[in-house]
Amino acid sequence: MNSNVSDIQARLERLHQDYARQLPDKIAVIDRLWQQLLTAPDATIRQELIRLCHTLAGSGASYGFAQVTAACRQIEQALLNLDDRTEIPDALSQQINLHLNQLRELSRQAPDKRMDPGAKAADPSAGRLIYILDEADHYAHELAGEIRNYGYTIELFDEPRLLQQQLQQQLPAAIVLTCSLAETDPTELSRFAPLAQQAPTLLITDNGDTAHRLQAVRSGIQAYFLKPANIIDLIDTLDHFSHEEPHPPCRILIVEDSQPAAEFYAAHLQQAGMEVQYITDPMQIMEAISGFSPELILMDLYMPRCSGKELSELVRQKESNLATPIVFLSAESDLEKQLDVIQHGDDFLTKPISAAHLVAAVRSRTRRFRELRALMLRDSLTGLYNHTTLFDLFHRELQRASRHGDMLSYVMLDIDRFKQVNDNYGHGIGDQVIQSLSRLLRQRLRGSDYIGRYGGEEFAIIMPNTPAEAASEVIDTIRIDFARLRQHTHDGEIYCTFSAGVIDSTLSDDAGNLARAADAALYRAKQAGRNRLMLADKTDL
Ligand code: GH3
Ligand code: MG
Ligand code: MG
Ligand code: MG
Repeated sequence: MNSNVSDIQARLERLHQDYARQLPDKIAVIDRLWQQLLTAPDATIRQELIRLCHTLAGSGASYGFAQVTAACRQIEQALLNLDDRTEIPDALSQQINLHLNQLRELSRQAPDKRMDPGAKAADPSAGRLIYILDEADHYAHELAGEIRNYGYTIELFDEPRLLQQQLQQQLPAAIVLTCSLAETDPTELSRFAPLAQQAPTLLITDNGDTAHRLQAVRSGIQAYFLKPANIIDLIDTLDHFSHEEPHPPCRILIVEDSQPAAEFYAAHLQQAGMEVQYITDPMQIMEAISGFSPELILMDLYMPRCSGKELSELVRQKESNLATPIVFLSAESDLEKQLDVIQHGDDFLTKPISAAHLVAAVRSRTRRFRELRALMLRDSLTGLYNHTTLFDLFHRELQRASRHGDMLSYVMLDIDRFKQVNDNYGHGIGDQVIQSLSRLLRQRLRGSDYIGRYGGEEFAIIMPNTPAEAASEVIDTIRIDFARLRQHTHDGEIYCTFSAGVIDSTLSDDAGNLARAADAALYRAKQAGRNRLMLADKTDL
C-alpha cells in the first residue's frame, strides 16, 4: 500500500515536471503562429491559435500553472474578437503581445518556479482523525474504543474550550459531540455552532425531540444520533465525513485525448484509492466500457475526432450504459455549452479544478450511482436481489462454473398456503412472514450464495461450488427451523412452512432449463404434501 502511494506520488511529480519542461515549446508554437497572423489575417491560423490557447489554458489549470491559464485565456478572448478580413487593430495586438510576453517570461524561468505552490496532491494519510467532546458522562470513553476499532484516531476532550484550542492546531475529519439534553432548552445547542463551522459534526444525545433536532440543524450539526448509537451507522457517517473511499473502490474510466492530462487525472484518482483506466482514443470507448464496467466516465469535452458530447450519445445508445454517469471535464467557460451538456443529463466540471475537488466530485457521483443501482437491483420489501438481477447472476455464475469445471446448485423455494395467511391475518402479516424468511436465509446461507425474491412468496437461491446433495442438506435445516419460527399476529401465534426444489449444474448447463426443472421439483414437493424438499432429476428437465 505504502509503496503504491509513493509510486503514485512519484508519477505525479514526474507529470508536473514533464509539463513544466514542455511549456516553452508550446508557447513557442503559439508565438510563431501569432507572428504569422500579424503579417496577414488568416482564418485557419486564427482558429488554430484559439485552439492552442484554449488547450493550454485548460492543462495549465490542472497542473497548477495559474499564470499560464490566465494569460492564455486573455489571448484566446482577444483572438475571438478579431475579424479575419481586416487588419488587426493596434489595441488588440498590443494586448495579445502583452500576455504573450508574460508567457515568454514564464518559459524562461526554471521549471519548478513556474508551478504554483499548493498544486501538489493532498496527503493521503490525513482524514482519520476524530475529536470527541464529552461533557458529562463517560459514554464517550466506551465509544472511542469502538470507533478506534475501525481505524480512526481519537482525541477526547471534556471542555469545549480545550477542543476549540486544538481546532486551531489541527482540523479533524469530524467532531463527535455526546451530551445529555433531557431537561435542556433546545437553544442550548447553539453554543456548538462555532465548533460545527470548523469540521463536520455529529451529535449523540438522549433527546430526539423535533425542537432539539431542528436547533441542531440550525447550529450546523450534520448528523443526529440517539443513545446508544448503532456503531455501524455511526461508522458509516464518519466514513462519509472523512471522505473515505468506499469498498470496493470506485471504478472510473477517463476519456482524454491528451496522454499527460489523462495520466494526471488517473494518478490523482488512484491516489485517492479509486480504480482507474484511461483511453486517449475515443474510438476505443465501447471496448473499454465492456471490459472495465466503469461506474463513472470522466470525459474530455474537446477531442479531435469526435466531441465529448457526441461520444456520450454513442455510449448511451447501448441500454446497459444508460444509467452510467458521464462527467465532462473541460476548460469550457461558455455557459450555454455547459447548459447544453447538462440538458443531456450529463454533468460538468470546469477546469481549473483542484485534485481534492476532482476526487470529491467523482466520489460523490459514484456513490449516488451505487445507491440508485442498489435500489434498482433489489427488492424493496426484503432487500434481496430481484428476479431480473438474480437471473443475470445465474447466467454469469453458470458460465464461471463451466470455465472452472465447478458445479453450482439452484434452489426454488415457495411458502406453503401463503394465500391463507393473507386471507386470515391480512397482507401486513403476510409481508412480515416474507421478511422473516428472507432474514433467515440471509443469516444461514454463505456470503458467496445469491438470494433473490422471485416475486410474491417465491425465492430463488444460487449456491456456487455446491452439489445438489449438499445444497439440499443446508436448505432442509433452514426448512425445519423456519417451520419452528413463531410468527406473531394480532390473533395469536402462527407457524408457516415452505417447500423447495433443488438442482445442480451437472444436469444441464442452461439457466432456463435448470430453473424450469427446479420449479418442477418444487411442484412435486407441493403435490406430495408441502413442507418438504425435492431433488430434481432428469424427468424434470
Ligand atoms: P402453495 O402452498 O401452493 O404455494 O399455496 P399459496 O397460497 O402459497 O400459493 P398461491 O400462489 O395461490 O398464493 C400466493 C399468494 O401470495 C397470493 C398473493 O396474494 C400473495 N402475495 C404475493 N405477493 C405478496 C406480497 O408481497 N405480500 C403479501 N403479503 N402477499 C403476497
Ligand atoms: Mg482534448
Ligand atoms: Mg406458495
Ligand atoms: Mg407461489
